[in-house]
Order: sequence, then C-alpha cells, then structure tokens
Amino acid sequence: MNKKLYFTVGPSELYPTVAQHVQSALDEKVGVISHRGKQFEAIYKNANDGIRTLLNIPSDFHIFFLSSATEIWERIIENCVEHTSFHCVNGSFSKRFSEFSTELGKKAFIEKADFGKGFYPDKINVPAEAEIICLTYNETSSGVSMPVEDINKFREKNKEALIFVDAVSALPYPKLDFSKIDSTFFSVQKCFGLPAGLGVWIVNQRCMDKANSLLKKGKSIGTYHTLPSLLSKGKDNQTPETPNVWNIYLLSKVVEDFNKKGVDTIRKETELKAKMLYDYIESSQNFSFAVEDVRLRSFTTIVANTKISAADINKKLEPFDMAIGSGYSSYKDTQVRISNFPANSVEQMETLVKKMKELFN
Ligand SMILES: *Cc1c(COP(=O)(O)O)cnc(C)c1O
Repeated sequence: MNKKLYFTVGPSELYPTVAQHVQSALDEKVGVISHRGKQFEAIYKNANDGIRTLLNIPSDFHIFFLSSATEIWERIIENCVEHTSFHCVNGSFSKRFSEFSTELGKKAFIEKADFGKGFYPDKINVPAEAEIICLTYNETSSGVSMPVEDINKFREKNKEALIFVDAVSALPYPKLDFSKIDSTFFSVQKCFGLPAGLGVWIVNQRCMDKANSLLKKGKSIGTYHTLPSLLSKGKDNQTPETPNVWNIYLLSKVVEDFNKKGVDTIRKETELKAKMLYDYIESSQNFSFAVEDVRLRSFTTIVANTKISAADINKKLEPFDMAIGSGYSSYKDTQVRISNFPANSVEQMETLVKKMKELFN
C-alpha cells in the first residue's frame, strides 16, 4: 500500500473525501448508467450548479465538460478564432496553448516573458486584429501567476477581443471577475484533487456568438465538441459523446465538499499554506525564490531554486511518506515545485515544512 502524501503539481494528491465518493459511485452504479438517462442528467446538473456556486459564475455563462484542458485549448482556437490569436507566453503551458493556434493554421501573436518572469499589462499592447487574448493565471511550469487585477486590465484596453484565462492549476483559488473575461477552464487532477481525465470549460455568450458567426461564414469549427454542439446537449444536462460520467460524478461530490467548507476558507488556507512554504524558502540555505517579483509568485504552485535535486530530496522524504515535485523539464534538478492545492491540508503542509527544515535546513 502506498501511504505517501504527494505534494506534486499534477497529477496531485486526491481530495480526502474521494475514497468515500468512489464507494458511493459504485453503490449507485455510476459506471454503468446511460448518459442519456435521468440519473446522469441529475449528476450533470449537480456538478454544473455546484461549480457555478463555488466560483460565483454569472447565469449568462455556460459550463461544459470535455476531456482535458489540452482539449479545451484546441476547442478555443477552433471555435473562436478565424485568423489571429494573442498569447502571453512565459512557460511551457502557455507556449503549448499558443502552438495550437499555429498548428491549426491561425496566426498567433506572442508576448513573451522569460521563464520565471511574468507580465505587466500596462506595458502590453495587443494588436487590434487579435480576436482572442489567451492568458495563463498560473504558469505551472515556473510558478508565475498573473494576478486577477492584472487580468482585468486587458478588458479595459481591448473591448472587442475575447479573453480566455487558463486557470488549470489554480481554480478555485483565484476570485476571477467574470465581467472582465469571456472564458476560463480547468482540469480536475490539479486543484480539485481528482483522477485525471476531465476538463471543465466555462464560456459566455460572446464565445457562443463567435462560434456561430464562424459557422455562418462556412468555416469549420470542429465536430462533436463545438460550442453549439456542447450547448445543444448541455441544455438537457447531457454531453454530445459518452462522457467521463465517473469523474463528472466525483467532481460533483468534491465540489459539494468544497462548497460546504466554503470557498473563502479554501482561499484563506491556500494563502496560509503558501506563506508557510515561502517563509521557509526565504529562511533556507538550500532553497531560494524562483520567481523574483513577489506579486507574481503563485499561491498554488510553489517553485524554488534548489541546491539538492528533487530526486535526492524525495529519497530523504521517502521514509516519512512524503514526496514533492521536481522542476519542469530542463529545471528538473535545479528547481522544486510543491503543490499547494486544497487536497494538501494545513496540517500536512506544516508536517512537510517541519520535516524539510529538519532534513535540509
Ligand atoms: C496541467 C495544465 C494544463 C493541461 O492540463 P491537461 O489536463 O493535462 O490537459 C494546461 N494548463 C496549465 C496551466 C496546466 O497546469
């Protein structure tokens, strides 16, 4: 039996109630029921309503279930871009999103920042021809965040362009202002503490209108997961394909738990735990901040430069049943990434920090 606690940024530790929800899913035969039946429609609606409450999503936004955030990147370009997109790129996730645009034959304008750096919206001029603006709330590879007040500045200068926020490794932490953005999305294996294989896409009417206008012009916007197709089934609490019913059920249950706990409590705990980790990094001989600008340091993905590789750190943490994440790709040995998700409790974070202080000072 693996008793280890994972402080890794994706896949990541399961939320503590998942085991009991898996049992109730078996009891209710969630893996067997038809996705065209009443039981599934109730699960779909429960997940949808719960997410709307949790994130305070206005009624003119739709919530759709897809297979992953990676799929959502592709659907955004297909459904909402005729010619040009604009992307703030400062790490591998934001970069990959921008590549989808070019791979689908569109022109992608890139505003680039170095790894570990972020963006200063006052200094950014989005070309007028950009139909969509793609922002990453939390660049999971580097631990750089774009604060909500910075995201909101894009709307002031760009009234026409649709604004998409990749909030995959952060929601429900950020209190997004839905009057300033058109869409956001996440996948469940990060901060929702669930097994991977489900992406949630939140879009407003402007995104729907854009997809429909492209259709009217005779453009292809994809096949089963176009926005109009998602909406036409979504209205009946269904999906175009046989979906990941199992995970939609588990998500609905974990979101119920989050709502019972209260999103404000989750946000406060996230800040408390982030402070523990950052205070430790500041005082440590082995670690140092990977993100210089304190305003842009992530609350959910704590990244530090390290003198000891994550592999060696994890060897020492192993007897205590804990593991942290390595740096991304070429930063594998020189950085560590520590998840600070709702599934990592305050007590567990205290235990981790205490043990790291003992072992590595
Ligand atoms: C993990 C991640 C993705 C991709 O999510 P998948 O579920 O693997 O498709 C996209 N964006 C960010 C910021 C991520 O952290």
